[in-house]
Parts: sequence; structure tokens; C-alpha cells
Amino acid sequence: MHRRFPGGMEGKIGDGMGIKVAKFGGTSVADAKQIGKTVEIIRADADRRMIVVSAPGKRFETDTKITDLLYLLKTHMEQNAPYGQVLQIVRDRFLETERELGVNADVADEFRIIEARLEEGASADYIASRGEYLSAKIVAAYLGYDFVDAAGLICFNAKGRFLPDETRQALGAALSARDRAVLPGFYGTHPDGTIKTFSRGGSDITGALVAEAVNAEVYENWTDVSGFLMADPRIVENPKGIDFISYKELRELSYMGASVLHENAIYPVRLAGIPINIRNTNRPEEKGTLIVSDEIAKERAGGRDIITGIAGNRDFTVIAIYKNMMSAEAGFIRRVLGILEDYDVSVEHIPSGVDTLSLVIADRYLDGKLDDIVDDIERKAQADSVEVFENMSLIATVGSGMASRKGVSATLFTALANVGVNIRMIDQGSSEMNIIVGVENADFETAIKAIYAAFIGTDRA
Ligand code: ADP
Ligand code: ASP
Ligand code: MG
Repeated sequence: MHRRFPGGMEGKIGDGMGIKVAKFGGTSVADAKQIGKTVEIIRADADRRMIVVSAPGKRFETDTKITDLLYLLKTHMEQNAPYGQVLQIVRDRFLETERELGVNADVADEFRIIEARLEEGASADYIASRGEYLSAKIVAAYLGYDFVDAAGLICFNAKGRFLPDETRQALGAALSARDRAVLPGFYGTHPDGTIKTFSRGGSDITGALVAEAVNAEVYENWTDVSGFLMADPRIVENPKGIDFISYKELRELSYMGASVLHENAIYPVRLAGIPINIRNTNRPEEKGTLIVSDEIAKERAGGRDIITGIAGNRDFTVIAIYKNMMSAEAGFIRRVLGILEDYDVSVEHIPSGVDTLSLVIADRYLDGKLDDIVDDIERKAQADSVEVFENMSLIATVGSGMASRKGVSATLFTALANVGVNIRMIDQGSSEMNIIVGVENADFETAIKAIYAAFIGTDRA
């Protein structure tokens, strides 16, 4: 791994021979106007040679993303309801963009193929992937770049497990022969050629894989915010931007709910030492956030705030287990975790105290199993008592500078107490760069605003 650091980010990276991989999210390719901005950005720097695009996203607040329409179409199919209208809406959006850009990307022909596949009962993954596929065809045609399909290049095994080595090799071979290309994000193929998608937001992963495969100078991730912000802008009004952040901090924040970049987009580029630059398609003059190695982030972060960011998610259940002399009883924790395994439920966090153990579980895994699990813990693990807290949110306050500062937890707890928010659970990760608190769902936004105000400044919201 060698150290890289792009200097001024305005197109002076390397010696002109470098390759920049630029991924454009849904809002950046939502319609002809947005594609116009995207193409202007690509043309402004000759190094932006490998482009990855999402499916068209929302054009305005109440609009629907193409990917959501495609999943809706599949739901109609499964319910044996007519899906023609939804298909028409999707087709019209692509046809309109193709017409407004004045390109020929064979959209009408492509929809004839899609329609035939739908009649044969196409899979949800195939249907969802067509958003990215058509988006890439249109952008490639408009730019005059090669269209390179992700099918056969992003590889999964027959069970749907992602195959990094095969993918690196296939992408490297396909792209080394090209000067410039546009690829669809979000999907790849099983060995039999059928389509498999990543989870939602997965075009970020495709971008990272392409960056790794071509050994890019930088992986640019273009979206609708000027980089990673210290808190979700939908909760805190006008949060401060983050200039530099380490891969580790970013991963903690992404995992905990800051949805700017897919959490799995970080590994491939981190291993290769490729910096990620998150930027705003609507404000290309802003530098955005640069995600770099821990050492570089530290070097660059002089004088910055104690915390790097705040992120959170709703809808968890906490099962608090009490047992006298718990730590003296060999195998207790194993028995408790074994019970969850029996129910096929994964645990998000396991904070523990002297005689207590809490299990933090995302509600989507519980699905009617809670009573049986609690019953089993009481009986099989012979707990003294079990308490259940439902409708909980988890909020993570993250920052690599936290470990060396005194009083960070005190500031956080005082801030929450002052706005009357009860903390139901605390988990200070072993990484010492993360304090997670559990609060009631109803207090989620109040708590994030209070933490932001305590560490960063007054929240004007
Ligand atoms: P794209 O379609 O370009 O991939 P996403 O919607 O996936 O974009 O991600 C960008 C969005 O992430 C922003 O519009 C913002 O609402 C949301 N977001 C959540 N937390 C943060 C944060 N900490 N910083 C910036 N944006 C955030
Ligand atoms: N279009 C997909 C989604 O909406 C993938 C992506 O945008 O990254 O989840
Ligand atoms: Mg995204």
C-alpha cells in the first residue's frame, strides 16, 4: 500500500496520467438538466475517465426514485396486479431524458426487451437493475464514452455472495482496454449470468470496486450534499461540513446510519489506499469531504472539533438481562447468544456491566419472535430478571480525537439531561472513538440536535 494524497483537489492530481473514478448518485442523473451538470463536471477534468452512475433519483422532494418504481412494479407482478402503468411511468422518464438530451441510447428497444423479460416473470434484482443499466446507456451516449455493462464484471457466486477477487480481475481486464467508460452501478451477475444487486445504495460499492480495479488516484462520489456533514441535514439545520475524515470514522458513522455512502464502499478503496472525495454535483466549486487514512486525517485535522460527526438509527429493541454473579458463571453469555442464534436473530451491540448484559437488536430481525426469545433467556439461561425496552433509537457520537479528551461523555450526558432525554443504554466502543447511547424513538431528533449543539455550537433549527 502506498501513500497518496491528492493536493489541490481542482484537477491537479498526479501528472495528468492518473485516472479518477467518478460515481454520480441518483439526483445527479435524475433528468436531462442534472445529467447536463454531471457531464460538465466530467468534461472539466480529462482524468475523469471511469464513470459509474445510479438510476435516476428524485427530481423534486415528492418525486419517486426510478429504483423504487421498479420494485413497485415487481410487487404488482407478485400480486398478479397489472403493472403496465408503472412500467409506462418508468419508460416515459427515460424516453423524455433521451429526447431532451438529443441522444440515441436505444431506450425504446431496450424497453421491448425488458417487457418480454417481465412477461417471463423476471426477478426483482433484474427489474431493479434496469434503472442503472439505462441510466448508464444514456450518459455514455451523451458523453461519447464506451458503455460497459456491469454484468459479468461484478461477480457473485451462485448463493449471491460477492466475489472480490473475480471482480477485481474481470473489471481490470475489461477496463484496461478502454480509455473512457460509463458503467452502471448497483448490480452484477451470478455465475449463470442472472442479475444480482447489492443492497440499496449499492452503486457506491460499484464505484469503489471500479476505483480499486483501475488503481484510481481518487474515487469521487458526487451527490446532492457538499460532502459528509457533522449530522444529518434533515435533522440538524445547516450542519458543518467535514473537510477530512478517516476511513474508520466514516465507517462508524455510515454503519450507524449516516447514509451518504454505503458502508461497504469503504473497504475496497481503503485497502488500496485510494482517497474518497464526496462532492456536490449542484456545487462543484466546493471541495467536499476527503476520506483518507488515519494518519493523514490526523495530520490534517489540527484544531478541529472534538467530535467528527453524529449519526443514528431508529427502531431497536434492548433486552436487558440481570443475573447475580454473571461474570463468575462460565458460559452464560454463550448460552444467551446461542438462544438468539436459534432464532436467527443478529445482535447489533452487547453492552455489559457487572451483573448485567444488554442485547441491542434491530426490530427488523425480531419479527414476532421477541416473546419467545425473552422466555428462553429466562428459562434456558436462568436469568434473574429480563427487562425489555422497545421503540429505541441508537445514536453514535464519533471522533478519533475523543479518546485523548477528558469529559466527552460528561458533556454528552449533560446535554441530553438538559433537554429531558432519558438514556436507556450506553455503549462506549472498545475503539474509543465512539459513544453510543440508546434513547426512545420519540427523543431521536431532540437528542441529535442537543448533542450537536453541545459539541459544535448552537443549533439554529
Ligand atoms: P446519492 O443518491 O447521490 O447516492 P444519497 O441519498 O444516497 O445520495 O446520500 C446523500 C444524502 O445523505 C443527503 O442528501 C442527505 O440527506 C443524507 N445524509 C444523511 N446523513 C448525512 C450526513 N451526515 N452528511 C451528509 N448527508 C447526509
Ligand atoms: N438505485 C439504487 C438505490 O436506489 C442504488 C443506488 O442508487 O446506489 O438503492
Ligand atoms: Mg447513495
